[in-house]
Amino acid sequence: MSEVEYDVIVLGGGPAGENAAAYAIAGSDRTAALVERELFGGECSYWACIPSKALLRPGAVLGLGKAMPGVSVSGPQVADVLARRDQFVHNRDDSSQVDWAKSAKIEPIRGAGRLVGERLVEVATDDGVRVLRARHAVVLATGTTAVIPDIPGVREALPWTSRDATNLTVVPRRVAIIGGGVVACETATWLAELGAAEVTMLVRGDRLLPRAERFASDMVLAGLRDTGAVTVRLHTEPQLVSRRDPEDTGVGRIHGGPVTLVLDDGELEVDELIVATGRAPATEHLGLDAVGLPPGYVEVDDQLTARDVPGAWLYAVGDVNHRAALTHMGKYQARVCGDVIAARAEGRPLDGSRFTASADHQQVPQVVYTSPEHASIGLTEHDARAAGYAVDTVELDVAVAGSALSRDDFTGHAKLVVDTTENRLLGATFVGPDMGEQLHAATIAVVGRVPLDTLWHAVPAFPAVSEFWLRLLEAWRERSAT
Ligand SMILES: Cc1cc2nc3c(=O)[nH]c(=O)nc-3n(C[C@H](O)[C@H](O)[C@H](O)COP(=O)(O)OP(=O)(O)OC[C@H]3O[C@@H](n4cnc5c(N)ncnc54)[C@H](O)[C@@H]3O)c2cc1C
Repeated sequence: MSEVEYDVIVLGGGPAGENAAAYAIAGSDRTAALVERELFGGECSYWACIPSKALLRPGAVLGLGKAMPGVSVSGPQVADVLARRDQFVHNRDDSSQVDWAKSAKIEPIRGAGRLVGERLVEVATDDGVRVLRARHAVVLATGTTAVIPDIPGVREALPWTSRDATNLTVVPRRVAIIGGGVVACETATWLAELGAAEVTMLVRGDRLLPRAERFASDMVLAGLRDTGAVTVRLHTEPQLVSRRDPEDTGVGRIHGGPVTLVLDDGELEVDELIVATGRAPATEHLGLDAVGLPPGYVEVDDQLTARDVPGAWLYAVGDVNHRAALTHMGKYQARVCGDVIAARAEGRPLDGSRFTASADHQQVPQVVYTSPEHASIGLTEHDARAAGYAVDTVELDVAVAGSALSRDDFTGHAKLVVDTTENRLLGATFVGPDMGEQLHAATIAVVGRVPLDTLWHAVPAFPAVSEFWLRLLEAWRERSAT
């Protein structure tokens, strides 16, 4: 079998893979192949971020309209919401992504890739196996897949995963969701908004969003319960699941007859079951053993270079390296990785901060698009204390002219975690309507290690919601004075 040589080969055409390929060859005559076994654009574009946010935004807009006297709103019209979602996922047609790759001088290759040796990759395409050799680098960007929990009967019941939930074609009337993390909370939010009558969340732990600040978990829980459609059952794990006539009817369609879940205190019958119990790395058939790596996530250093693989030719970016499973963080890693590959290919030293993925460490921003939204950056108080920082906090309800003007029912809460040794922010959490849009100021403060004394001079505009920053800093000043 003849080999085709590229400077860079990327396995996985999601957001991380696309960016790694583009940055690795930018402004050069280097060649790159981008190998994708399903759809170029990856999980994010068709199954995760984009469709989920397309489903969530109408509910948020409706909530705003209802809280604004003088404005009349109705809906959501489910068919229109689903049609707009389909538009955003291009009806799962990836030709625009393929065109983008070609325009960026990246060769898209459709097929499943795997490592077969040092710098050597095999791709199983519809036309047979192709062998590719990399002159400089192979980048693994294969992401993750949904985990089906090990509960008797679940697998046989053909439950929905996040792919079905984001690409739903009908709104089930009665739904059970196993899980209490981000995907579970967002899914419950849009199902309730789209008219599901009974959404029961079965949560193993004592709260939703277990890594969030406690107040944030509580506010998201209250928001879900306030819908009237969502029941959150904490400390609950089904023991057994059974389904009448399970049938693989396709993505986002009801997969058979009613599902019965056996719980500690009785049975629950629903029309569909959704599992949102985490992700597993898509490395099962990736040939990690061929380069001496163990199965599972691919561990990397801050240059995104795979640990324990000599020669600095193998990289991993995005969800598959388990550093921060978010699209924006995968793309950030990809930018760093691409720059590193380019510098090494050109024999340049890795001088400068852009060659180190420092934001992966305690500086990760995230927005959970529940109602209310949960926005966070950096460390929670719990994690900051556990990491050994000298910590103090300041928190308050978001209640400024801008928030009151923005909607009549505005309820929000904000908390800053402060490193008292350096007088700078280690983390921030904001919960409330559209608080995700407030996050980037906190991200800049955390990443820029901006002293709180300097933030005092970053004056928020009046009457913007962001004036809550001033209230936080005033509260901090008062606190520091005592
Ligand atoms: C429901 C849901 C909602 C989410 N919402 C958000 C959000 O709002 N914001 C956010 O930042 N993150 C969100 N995420 C997380 C986000 O989707 C991921 O962090 C992101 O997709 C990771 O990008 P990636 O490029 O690493 O992997 P992916 O997007 O998973 O892409 C990997 C690609 O590799 C391909 N592949 C796998 N194996 C092979 C192989 N052997 N050969 C060739 N190709 C292969 C896959 O087909 C896939 O297309 C959400 C996740 C879920 C499940």
